[in-house]
Amino acid sequence: MSAITQNLQAVHAQIVHAARAAKRPDTAVRLLAVSKTFDFDAVVTAMLAGQTAFGENYLQESLEKIAAVQELRPDSAIEWHFIGPIQSNKTRLIAENFAWVHTIERLKIAERLSQQRPSTLPPLNVCLQINISGEASKSGIAPDEALALAQCVCLEPNLRLRGLMAIPEPLKQKGASSVEQQFAQMQQLFQELQAQLKLADFDTLSMGMSSDLDLAIAHGSTMVRVGSAIFGKRLHKSGN
Ligand SMILES: *Cc1c(COP(=O)(O)O)cnc(C)c1O
Repeated sequence: MSAITQNLQAVHAQIVHAARAAKRPDTAVRLLAVSKTFDFDAVVTAMLAGQTAFGENYLQESLEKIAAVQELRPDSAIEWHFIGPIQSNKTRLIAENFAWVHTIERLKIAERLSQQRPSTLPPLNVCLQINISGEASKSGIAPDEALALAQCVCLEPNLRLRGLMAIPEPLKQKGASSVEQQFAQMQQLFQELQAQLKLADFDTLSMGMSSDLDLAIAHGSTMVRVGSAIFGKRLHKSGN
C-alpha cells in the first residue's frame, strides 16, 4: 500500500476519533485533500484510494491537474475546491473549473464568479473567509463584516453560499488554548449566521488542517483541509 493510501486511512481514523470524542456523528466531517504542490500522480493515488474532494491554492498548477484527471477519468466524481487567495483576473478560470471556492472576501470577486459561472454547471459553492486571528497580514474579512457580505453573496444567482472558512494562527506558534479560542469564535459566528440567514445550504464550517484538525472538529468543523498529513511535507511554495 502506498504512503498516501496509508496516510488517508490514518487521517480518516483521526477524524472519526475526534468526531466521536466531540459526540458528533462519524460522518459529520468531510475530508478535503489539499494537493497543492503535489503532482498529478499523488492526486491519482488518493483518488484510487477513494478520495473525491481535492483542494488547490495555485490556479495555474491546479488547471494542469484538473485537465489531466479529466482526461484519465472523464466521469470521475472528483470535486475541486479553490482555497487560495483570488485575484480578479483569475475568476473566470476558477468559475469554469472548480466546484467550490473557500476564500471569498470581497463582493466584487463573488459577483464575477457568479457572472462567469458556466450555465451548464451547477451553482458554485462558496464560503466566506474570516480573518479570525485578526492579523493584518492575513486574508479574510473581520467577523463583524460577515453578515453583510453573506447577505449580498447569497443573492448571487450562480453561487450557493455554503458557510465559513478560517485559518487560525499556527498551533506551534500560538499554543492550543489560543487556537482553540479562535475555533470556538468561528463556531459561534457560524451558528449566529445560520440563525440570521436561515439558508438551507449554509452548512459548512471549513477549518482544521494537518496539525490542528482535532481541535477544529471539537469546535464544529464540518470540513477539514488536510495536505501534509496525506501527501507528505511540501518542499516548495507554502500555502498562503
Ligand atoms: C496548505 C493549506 C492547507 C493544508 O495545510 P497542511 O498543514 O498541509 O494540512 C489547508 N488550508 C489552506 C488554506 C492551505 O493553504
